[in-house]
Amino acid sequence: MPAVSGLSTRLKLWGVRGSIPVPGPGTVRYGGNTACVEVRTDGEIIVLDAGSGIRELGLALEAEFGSRPINLSLLITHVHWDHIQGFPFFAPSYGDKNQIRIFGYNGTDAGLEQILTGQMATPFFPVALYDLPGKIQFENLKVMDFQIGKVRVRAKLLNHPGVCVGYRILSSGGSIAYLPDNEPYDAFKLHSPKSEQFSPVETKRRAQEDRAELVKFLQGSDVLILDTQYTDEEYQTHVGWGHGSLSMAVSLARDAAVRKLILFHHDPTHDDEMIDQMVKTAQQLAAKSESHLEVEGAREGAEMTLG
Ligand SMILES: [Zn+2]
Ligand SMILES: [Zn+2]
Repeated sequence: MPAVSGLSTRLKLWGVRGSIPVPGPGTVRYGGNTACVEVRTDGEIIVLDAGSGIRELGLALEAEFGSRPINLSLLITHVHWDHIQGFPFFAPSYGDKNQIRIFGYNGTDAGLEQILTGQMATPFFPVALYDLPGKIQFENLKVMDFQIGKVRVRAKLLNHPGVCVGYRILSSGGSIAYLPDNEPYDAFKLHSPKSEQFSPVETKRRAQEDRAELVKFLQGSDVLILDTQYTDEEYQTHVGWGHGSLSMAVSLARDAAVRKLILFHHDPTHDDEMIDQMVKTAQQLAAKSESHLEVEGAREGAEMTLG
């Protein structure tokens, strides 16, 4: 993706799958790599998550920049493996001219830096993170609203096991919300350390409040990249697994007056035909809701321009 000029905001999907990479004949069209999205806006390169898709992004950046330095910001939503497993294979980390700032929040038991270092420690990987020649800097976030250059980034805790955030990127060219892993609040299942102490009435009240806050957070996004791992039928047997379903994704996007919904974090068991069917169902639901919501399925390699 060439460098951004003027006020356009561009994004490219490098990995769209949840849980584990699933290459093979059944996933050729939508792709088998795990979560990674590239955003170019206001002179910045912002990468969302470091699933296996980040490997291809790294090769593309090397080809584009040649001997020029690469300077980018990597925003991690959470440290489940499908969101960090590609980082050891990210070529720009191996170039001493490059600068990579890694943003994220500490988990409940261990810090972001400790976990990313841990996945490259002996015996899991031959090169330690601190031996990588690239200038890697951790930005351990404590605030939910910060700047990357001229770009404003807001974060919000999501309903997913462990500590997991969603990001909203607000730039001069428009806004993108990225919520790769999130269970809808509609089932009143809360992934919070204290939630077991709540009565059913209290749980329902908190879930409704949390949903209203999420709608506010997403309000008016140009693009919403959202966890839609399951069909509505599949979700019935996966309540509490931390992922979303079709009709709840469409209703969230509609309530937040989102312009375009991108169905993301495809289940590893779903082949291209299954995802086609899910996209069609979601488009029908959006049309029935009489909103102007556009819906498409996240496809590895897809690019779009905002504004
Ligand atoms: Zn995930
Ligand atoms: Zn996860």
